[in-house]
Amino acid sequence: MANVDFLNAELERLKKEGLYNTIRTLGSPQGGWIVMDGRRVLNLCSNNYLGFGNHPNLVAAAKEALDTHGIGPGAVRSIAGTMDLHLELEEKLAAFKGAEATLSMQSGLIANLATIPALLDSPEDGVFTDELNHASIIDAVRLSKATRYIYKHNDVANLKAKLDEGKAARRKLVVTDGVFSMDGDIAPLPDLVTEAERAGAMVMVDDAHGEGVLGSHGRGIVDHFHLHGRVDIEVGTLSKAFGVMGGFVAGSRSLIEYLRQKARPFLFSSALTPPDVAACIAAVEVLSRTDEPVRKLWENGRALKAGLGKAGFNTGKSETPITPVIIGEAATAREFSRRLFEEQNVFAQAIAFPTVPKGTARIRCMVSAAHEPKDIQTAVDAFVRVGKAMGVAG
Ligand SMILES: *Cc1c(COP(=O)(O)O)cnc(C)c1O
Repeated sequence: MANVDFLNAELERLKKEGLYNTIRTLGSPQGGWIVMDGRRVLNLCSNNYLGFGNHPNLVAAAKEALDTHGIGPGAVRSIAGTMDLHLELEEKLAAFKGAEATLSMQSGLIANLATIPALLDSPEDGVFTDELNHASIIDAVRLSKATRYIYKHNDVANLKAKLDEGKAARRKLVVTDGVFSMDGDIAPLPDLVTEAERAGAMVMVDDAHGEGVLGSHGRGIVDHFHLHGRVDIEVGTLSKAFGVMGGFVAGSRSLIEYLRQKARPFLFSSALTPPDVAACIAAVEVLSRTDEPVRKLWENGRALKAGLGKAGFNTGKSETPITPVIIGEAATAREFSRRLFEEQNVFAQAIAFPTVPKGTARIRCMVSAAHEPKDIQTAVDAFVRVGKAMGVAG
């Protein structure tokens, strides 16, 4: 089988270089505490920011949709017809976001793949993209035929220089993550928008980690900065704070109409299942009614940062509940994470190069509204104990 020898060779290489992913097995619903590899652990690793991953309203809505709409959508929407549930979700999301219209997608990743290549389809187009943007933006940019201009992370002056460089482009698109998930910093969206307006460029923000987190009731980064009407394209995910699965694009009616005609993942891949969609509708309804889960999330994030900071850990420059604990060397961070799990029953993953720069390996802690104040204390105590044992700050 010489033709497939490269598979095992590559796997061996990944293992040797410490880049091999070992994936743990979850034996319970998502939540503040979970059963992981058969052990009950405090969960600091999910993007289930609001605890919606096992919310009773969402679960009930999904069960009901199974009875009313069955399990599958049948085919792509443009052929099989679109279910009323999808339209209801899109209307409710638009109202929640304060956007003219939205289009639901099978995932946040797909929402990016659907949007960028549909908007930019010629080397005469220019895309201006932050160097730390999410992999799904990078792939969407590759799929588009646009000329790429990569600007330095959150550097508005450098974006301006790139916009000058590409000023002859036919269509221009500035694209950024809203919240950068490895550091928890927020894109300087008001300044990016100003530069884009000057250059006649469209602006797109992928708010996967801001959706349900930033803004009033978690309406996202555009609401956070009061930029309604000035950001052409908002991409969101329904699989993080919304607790379910899927993604969406929000913007003008013409943008959404255009994507329904042109976006390949919309035209060539079936839609979300009825239970997914019904659960997403329930998530939007809960969040429209109350901002309590959002406030609890932020309180937990502040408490964790304060506790770890007091214990001498470096929690970086996060402006959101994302809490990186920067350790330095990859091997030390991995050992720290292993000891947290095995000795302290705390599940917090180490993240190292190439996901983050060399020398900044970290344990990334994701708190949620599903955590109680005593859970946050448990996490801090665990970090302190492992930190002491390993001679790392704390
Ligand atoms: C998580 C994430 C995505 C992917 O969202 P899914 O719904 O899981 O596909 C896209 N963009 C960013 C910035 C993300 O953080």
